[in-house]
Amino acid sequence: MNSDFREETGTAVVIGGSLAGLLAARVLADSYRRVIVVERDTPARAAECRRGVPQGRHTHGLLAGGRQALEKLFPGISGELLAAGALPGDIIGEGRWFLEGAYHCRFSSGLIGLLMSRPFFEAMVRDRVRRLPNVVFRYNQEVRGLVTDAAKSRVVGVRLGNETCAADLVVDTSGRGSHTPRWLEEMGYPKPADERVEVALAYTTRSFRRRPGDMGGDVAIIIPPTPAGKRGGVMLAQEGGRWTVTMISHFGPGAPADLDGFIQFSRSLPALDIYDGIRGAEPLGEAAVLRFPASLRRRYEKLKRFPLGYLVMGDAISSFNPVYGQGMTVAALEALELQTALAAGKAGLARRFFPRAAKVIDIPWSIAAGNDLRMPEAAGRRTFAVRVLNAYMSKLHQAAHRDPAVALAFHQVGNLLAPPPAVLAPRIAWRVLWGNLRSRPVLDGLSQIQSADALR
Ligand SMILES: Cc1cc2nc3c(=O)[nH]c(=O)nc-3n(C[C@H](O)[C@H](O)[C@H](O)COP(=O)(O)OP(=O)(O)OC[C@H]3O[C@@H](n4cnc5c(N)ncnc54)[C@H](O)[C@@H]3O)c2cc1C
Repeated sequence: MNSDFREETGTAVVIGGSLAGLLAARVLADSYRRVIVVERDTPARAAECRRGVPQGRHTHGLLAGGRQALEKLFPGISGELLAAGALPGDIIGEGRWFLEGAYHCRFSSGLIGLLMSRPFFEAMVRDRVRRLPNVVFRYNQEVRGLVTDAAKSRVVGVRLGNETCAADLVVDTSGRGSHTPRWLEEMGYPKPADERVEVALAYTTRSFRRRPGDMGGDVAIIIPPTPAGKRGGVMLAQEGGRWTVTMISHFGPGAPADLDGFIQFSRSLPALDIYDGIRGAEPLGEAAVLRFPASLRRRYEKLKRFPLGYLVMGDAISSFNPVYGQGMTVAALEALELQTALAAGKAGLARRFFPRAAKVIDIPWSIAAGNDLRMPEAAGRRTFAVRVLNAYMSKLHQAAHRDPAVALAFHQVGNLLAPPPAVLAPRIAWRVLWGNLRSRPVLDGLSQIQSADALR
């Protein structure tokens, strides 16, 4: 760290050493002589929760699309995660998805997810980044502001208390609470427009001991909140023989943190699998509670003026209703976009990166915001397209109770492996229509294990 700007070349500074920051550092290390990750937290000891990432105590799922993107950034990391204790799971074949009053049918889909806690995952990614010889970490240092050239046209470093750190590129990955909008205004730039969808979400999370044979060997139960009941739950197997269980509530009181209250809350969900799973299970540790007011998207790609030498990534651009498990995957996909943008040179990087990042965000945003707008209380723009799509999705889930092809199409989109129009393809739309015309009663989805090969 030094205060002499003139001698410093080829340096990138990353604000925040969480997942988006680590993934950005990985990519920047290919193009900059030195990458400095500035993190205000103390260094985490292995897989422990940090103050700067309070969401780390809550259930996190990595989408299949995120795992694929991660492999491109860190070849072999899936194997390392598995060797260290992460659990593999077929997202459809070993997961129970309760939507529109019944379970999606189940089959071996080939969509493989990795189940692990957020601190475990971050520690493993951090370990890979630490192995890069030109990346250094500065812990216990908070970025207080940006340093610019005299014309304020370029960011040339960051301010850390009384000290400064020079940089050719500064990347803000400081999360949802990012100061960039304010810093831009202070520098005389417009700040980005915000888009918000209010979801008034309450998360309460507890861990339980996972015993062999629990849940018939299934590794995930997902009961998303419905527009009517607004309560849901998620139960995922984790490293270290644990279940992480999160109770979700929109526009109402969250699940109680005490064990009895938590278990009783799980009994009020649209399906009883989680209740059945935890009522006799051994609780581990204390509950964590978090409130999440709204999905938030900052439209940097629409700004007419933006300083050179500066970028924003991860939750600092968009933070989604966590129920959809998208944030880490979006951070990984943005890192790949940064890689592509840097491959074409460093000039005009923000101008090329932000539209690319916006395209990445469009898809998860349309999934999360669109679906949340089914709740009458959720404030946000309900376009005609959103209303039609939501009506269609309800029919799609009903067809997916029986039809593996429809279920597979939905989960490919949900895992950011296919764009949302994939669920509207004529082949799927026809099956949705047919599935809703048939009067056959919904079977127990759990008994319908079949092979995805038959669908291809
Ligand atoms: C309750 C909840 C559940 C979630 N569940 C999922 C899930 O299931 N799947 C999923 O993919 N995503 C999930 N997410 C989102 C996911 O946690 C984030 O997308 C992911 O952590 C990437 O965020 P980030 O790195 O951009 O920011 P963050 O993780 O918020 O990290 C920001 C970092 O910047 C540091 N920092 C902040 N300001 C400064 C400063 N001025 N100077 C230096 N350092 C600073 C902080 O200490 C922190 O380390 C969830 C989020 C929440 C809130």
